[in-house]
Amino acid sequence: MTADQNRIFAEQLDSKDPLRKFRSRFYIESENTIYLDGNSFGRLPIKTKALLTEVVEKQWGTELIESWNQNWYQKSTQLGDKIAPIIGATQGEVIVSDSTSINLYKLAHAALKLQKGKTTIVSDDLNFPTDLYILQGLIKEFGPEYQLHLAQSNDSITIETEELKSKITKNTALVVLSLVAFKSAFMYQLNEITEYAHQMGALVLWDLSHAAGAVEIELNKSNADLAVGCTYKYLNGGPGSPAFLYVHKDLQEKLSSPIQGWFGDALPFEFDLNYRPAKGIRRFLTGTPPVLNLMAIEPGIDIINEAGMATIHQKSIRLSEFFLSLVETELRNYGFEIGSPIKSANRGSHVSLKHDEAYRICQALIHPKSSTTRIIPDFRDPDNIRFGFTPLYTTFREVWLTAQRLKQIIKDKEYGQFSTQRSDVT
Ligand SMILES: *Cc1c(COP(=O)(O)O)cnc(C)c1O
Repeated sequence: MTADQNRIFAEQLDSKDPLRKFRSRFYIESENTIYLDGNSFGRLPIKTKALLTEVVEKQWGTELIESWNQNWYQKSTQLGDKIAPIIGATQGEVIVSDSTSINLYKLAHAALKLQKGKTTIVSDDLNFPTDLYILQGLIKEFGPEYQLHLAQSNDSITIETEELKSKITKNTALVVLSLVAFKSAFMYQLNEITEYAHQMGALVLWDLSHAAGAVEIELNKSNADLAVGCTYKYLNGGPGSPAFLYVHKDLQEKLSSPIQGWFGDALPFEFDLNYRPAKGIRRFLTGTPPVLNLMAIEPGIDIINEAGMATIHQKSIRLSEFFLSLVETELRNYGFEIGSPIKSANRGSHVSLKHDEAYRICQALIHPKSSTTRIIPDFRDPDNIRFGFTPLYTTFREVWLTAQRLKQIIKDKEYGQFSTQRSDVT
């Protein structure tokens, strides 16, 4: 296929896209900016702007402390109930609270206590660093008999199921995995891994940060135990928005939060001097949430529920497959290697391309010298450019334009005008 034929195909795909109308629900300041980093930080839903104005002016400014009862106090559980269908969970199994790192700590700690006597945690070497740091800290905290075992990737892209299974033994207390790996977008089979871990007597804690809002997730159908995830990625909750956590109904009363804050108490406003864990999912709350950030989450998840995860996941696959076909037909001799699984069933909603000049190519996309189109993917060490496809607002034409820019940047050596010096946030 030529570039022109691919462009026509992209336009056809856009015209048939069942999610077309959702792009206008997001604030898009310029059509010349192609945003391909929704996997790391989602765009601003237009409704969020008006909502935040209301929260600040009316709720904070006028209603003052009354807003706790009227709008704020129940929000952590209400938002949890709205996130539940996005991840295949039931009402009362999800809350919004703290950060993903803290939620991972709380749930992993609780699981290790419940699994007393078993002393290993299993994860993998594609996992997000904060997850491994938290687990390393827990190992230290729990004592010298505790160990963290990591399944190893052969190719830095995938983890073989057999390799992971070989790490899970009768002594495994907990398996902690990212459903979708942050660099390569490798996706586990949630069902199969959960079932195997259960056979071995282990619990599984899934980090859904790079998956929630992008791919269909069946926590209940897979009998999943525990999960955490970010709301500022595909859920479009805004900078620093608090994270979510999920605990299977049957486990809630058996697990205790290691951070016994007053929001997790049965009746915080009785101010009892002794902690009594709340019944149900509320026991995993800690303290006062960042209310402005918390309130900002709702419009993004409302849009996702309206669009439906099945349709979102289907478009995600089509966007990624289209991009991979462009890499194959148009970018063949430009030094790129695909750094993600080829099979859609094994991939989340971003595609990584590896290139020796990845960092500077990324810079050229973001700060174009010979184009009016600014494209924002991101760079991950050592040589990955991640292209995040957010089905609610990414168009096929944008994917096509991205391939054309990549071609131009390499052909004209436009990347040569940039320094290899890295910024703080890449
Ligand atoms: C983004 C991400 C995080 C971030 O955690 P924070 O506590 O919000 O900083 C954690 N884990 C994974 C897998 C992620 O992708």
